[in-house]
Amino acid sequence: MQQPGDAQSQSQHAQHVVVMGAGPAGLTAAYELQKHAVPVTVLEKDPQFVGGISRTVEHRGYRFDIGGHRFFSKSQEIEDLWSEVLGNELRTCGRLSRIYYRNRYFDYPLKATNALFNLGPFETIRCMSSYAWARIHPVKNPQTLEDWVSNQFGHRLFSIFFEVYNEKVWGMSAKEVSADWAAQRIKGLNLGAAIKGALLPKPKAKKGKGTVITTLIDEFRYPRLGPGQMWERVRDILRERGQTVAMGQSVEAIRHANGRVTSVTVRDAQGNVSEVGGSDFISTLPVRELVDKLEPAAPDAVRQAANSLRYRDFLTVAVVVNKDQMFPDNWIYIHDPTVKVGRIQNFKNWSKDMLADPKTTCLGMEYFCFEGDGLWTSSDQDLVELARRELVALGMCQPGDVAWGVVVRQPKAYPVYDDVYKQHLKVVKDYVEANLPNLWLVGRNGMHHYNNQDHSMMTALLVARNIATGAHFDPWKVNTDAEYHEEARFDEEDRSGRLVPKAAPALAHVEK
Ligand SMILES: Cc1cc2nc3c(=O)[nH]c(=O)nc-3n(C[C@H](O)[C@H](O)[C@H](O)COP(=O)(O)OP(=O)(O)OC[C@H]3O[C@@H](n4cnc5c(N)ncnc54)[C@H](O)[C@@H]3O)c2cc1C
Repeated sequence: MQQPGDAQSQSQHAQHVVVMGAGPAGLTAAYELQKHAVPVTVLEKDPQFVGGISRTVEHRGYRFDIGGHRFFSKSQEIEDLWSEVLGNELRTCGRLSRIYYRNRYFDYPLKATNALFNLGPFETIRCMSSYAWARIHPVKNPQTLEDWVSNQFGHRLFSIFFEVYNEKVWGMSAKEVSADWAAQRIKGLNLGAAIKGALLPKPKAKKGKGTVITTLIDEFRYPRLGPGQMWERVRDILRERGQTVAMGQSVEAIRHANGRVTSVTVRDAQGNVSEVGGSDFISTLPVRELVDKLEPAAPDAVRQAANSLRYRDFLTVAVVVNKDQMFPDNWIYIHDPTVKVGRIQNFKNWSKDMLADPKTTCLGMEYFCFEGDGLWTSSDQDLVELARRELVALGMCQPGDVAWGVVVRQPKAYPVYDDVYKQHLKVVKDYVEANLPNLWLVGRNGMHHYNNQDHSMMTALLVARNIATGAHFDPWKVNTDAEYHEEARFDEEDRSGRLVPKAAPALAHVEK
């Protein structure tokens, strides 16, 4: 295998792209570049896993995600790329996800009739009045998560279904989280239409005509061995085709001169340092770290802006329970304020092949935290004990049922959308674009954009094409919205009667 240092010997003038990070964005960029016959070196700091936040960790034959990763996209091109790489290994998976609140399970995405029935008549009247009030007196120009959600659902439903969970996820009040995040991630609810739909007979669907809306409640795709399988396969293809994916290589410095990045300094686990040169550099590193690594240093204003970007961290405790069946959901949101766990994944319900022993269940107990806080710094043993206690408190098993557990910590899992992130991000983006045109920012933390794999991949595809073909796509215009995440629009049925997605939106809208 080619070593990263070898790349140094390549002329800085010949086209050779250095990709920082082997997550979905970095590997997609490399995959696209090799299709255009552009040589590439991918540098990944993790010694073992590719896939970044979308990796699949394996322990004692059990595989688990860093949060369950659904494969779905509005872009047919991304869907096709997944199929091209994984073939039959990419399976269709039925979806069930619910909210656990006051010892009851509520459908998620919220369904009005189910939610109101579960809440009981008194609470239902309060929710309906609060919803009506919000319709008549919405907060004008909502800036915060609280205002946005209250406008959509009414303040009462906000306080039941969003307030506690939001605080678990973000570690701050819904008044401090930007409405941008909510608008991007939460599918609205038309309570009036939902109730009408529940009370009145449904109009007959016109076959072959009109548009049927199918929410991603119903199904999504998922690799047989988890999302990491996709990225392990891309790594293997790249290596088979002579490209370098170097593991355990942490980018420590990004050197530039005369308005161009010239090389990056990498350090391996043994402390060996090498220099990797190239013609173009693609970064999927968190924006804050990228700016910090620039040598010479970026101007103070740019460094201050980058340092002001915030992140939320995450850890998952994967526990193996000696029970064949525990619950039918892929995942459950835990809104109960008496436990710290925010969400529980049941990997068996994603793919049975994720488990070494089919008579057991492997759960991912997900805790949102800040790097360095009490949860983050707890010992692994204490965290497994916490997970065990909380499973018992939630009535899901007995203490003796938990066989063992393992902890995976994920720093910078979520780029935070506070009320100032946009202006800080713009300072960095403008600086890089104006001063370092061969440094390309892509991906989730790479663009400080709360997104899914498909968005990260699309930004990477566009940048790879810009580099390889001289195109002028603007990756910052690749968009995400609520519909993108929770709802797919289907136009027609294929011959088997299965609903097929509408053609992907053209890329034209992302041209500069
Ligand atoms: C809990 C959770 C659930 C999610 N669920 C879904 C889902 O259902 N579906 C979906 O599509 N997406 C989901 N996502 C989002 C998905 O994980 C990300 O969009 C995707 O992984 C982003 O890819 P990326 O390549 O941009 O970044 P990352 O995945 O963060 O990859 C960046 C890579 O860069 C490497 N790196 C960082 N610093 C350095 C350095 N100095 N030197 C070298 N390498 C470095 C990292 O180790 C990492 O491998 C979820 C995310 C979370 C947190």
